[in-house]
Amino acid sequence: MQGICLLGATGSIGQSTLNIIAQHPDKFTLINASANESVEKMADICRRFRPQRVVMGSEKARNDLALQCCNLSTSFEWGNDALESIASDASVDQVMAAIMGFAGLKPTLAGIRAGKRTLLANKESLVTAGKLFMDEVARHNVVLLPIDSEHNAIYQSLPQTTSGAHTQDVSKILLTASGGPFRTWSLDDMASVTPEQACKHPNWSMGQKISIDSASLMNKGLELIEACWLFDVTPNEIEVVVHPESIVHSMVSYRDGSVVAQMGNPDMRIPIAYGMTWPKRVETQVPPLSLIDVGRLNFEAPDTSRFPNLKLAADAWFMGGTAMAVLNAANEVAVAAFLNRKIGFLDIAKVNEGVLSAANIVTVNTLDNVFEADFSSRQLAQDMVNRGGFL
Ligand code: NAD
Ligand code: MG
Repeated sequence: MQGICLLGATGSIGQSTLNIIAQHPDKFTLINASANESVEKMADICRRFRPQRVVMGSEKARNDLALQCCNLSTSFEWGNDALESIASDASVDQVMAAIMGFAGLKPTLAGIRAGKRTLLANKESLVTAGKLFMDEVARHNVVLLPIDSEHNAIYQSLPQTTSGAHTQDVSKILLTASGGPFRTWSLDDMASVTPEQACKHPNWSMGQKISIDSASLMNKGLELIEACWLFDVTPNEIEVVVHPESIVHSMVSYRDGSVVAQMGNPDMRIPIAYGMTWPKRVETQVPPLSLIDVGRLNFEAPDTSRFPNLKLAADAWFMGGTAMAVLNAANEVAVAAFLNRKIGFLDIAKVNEGVLSAANIVTVNTLDNVFEADFSSRQLAQDMVNRGGFL
């Protein structure tokens, strides 16, 4: 029986993880869970899964939840220290890191430092802390399994040993991208899209922030950096391939000319269950893939002139140090501003570019360097949004 701490339980990844737990009550039990503000959703989770500890983002959310669930023996808590504490509890075997954004970094690291098997959906934590994050994984001998579907596919397509996947004999990683809802749109048309249009991903149902990132290709940029850290490669060894059907989730090209791909219907329960049960597999209730029904698989090159975020991410990698934390912070602010209708869709990349070129990039020696870069870049980005200075 594996005890799960589910960080970000009320989100899209959180719900899919609960679905796998519910399908396999003989294998998994929800020990601890967290959410930011969604009291109703969390009350429902508490009644169904009876976790030991639940952490909310504010005292008010915690109190409202405790009131709704007063007949349960669950301990209701709130705040950052409690979040780190539930990830490192002795009764937890696996931490599912599914908080949205940079806010997930500290609790994810707390689980790693406690030696927990780490299922990483929260790509922003690895993108921003990079080497420090991977050093902690190595120091604490942690099994780190990528949940992002592309990285999970790469992991599955790499040679497996008892300690994980290895990049021996690899010539290139082929990172697939759906291209998002605006893949074929002109810049003129994209200039006036609404948050509702941008959130409508053609193949995946996801949280708002990652949906916008998918539409702007920032998601693929973050994933490029994520793949560099996870698989110890540089952007030169990764080719982004646009594949609108999202059936091939990514590929690995070997030096003998072989290309190994992982395919499946686009449903996050596959990579989630893979992470939870690795190196074994379980049923997921995802309908089997019918390639005959799919009929055709298409592939094309990404267009960085319409989607500059992808190039900005590669630039940030080569700049090194805090550049990736800077870019991520700018993007989190820009996406929130777009969702609040303060800026247009194309302004997201302009804010990102403006902050990346204006910020003071320093070497990352400690986590403080990352937090300072995040803090000052958020301010820079917010100033640009307020001034409309990105135009
Ligand atoms: P979501 O917005 O649906 O859910 C986010 C969860 O995090 C919620 O439970 C929310 O309460 C919590 N949260 C948000 N802000 C918080 C904060 N400041 N402090 C504490 N908790 C907070 O997001 P999602 O789509 O489930 O994505 C979660 C993570 O997984 C993201 O990093 C995303 O990039 C990654 N991811 C998601 C998918 C997907 O299919 N949804 C695929 C790959 C990777
Ligand atoms: Mg992905």
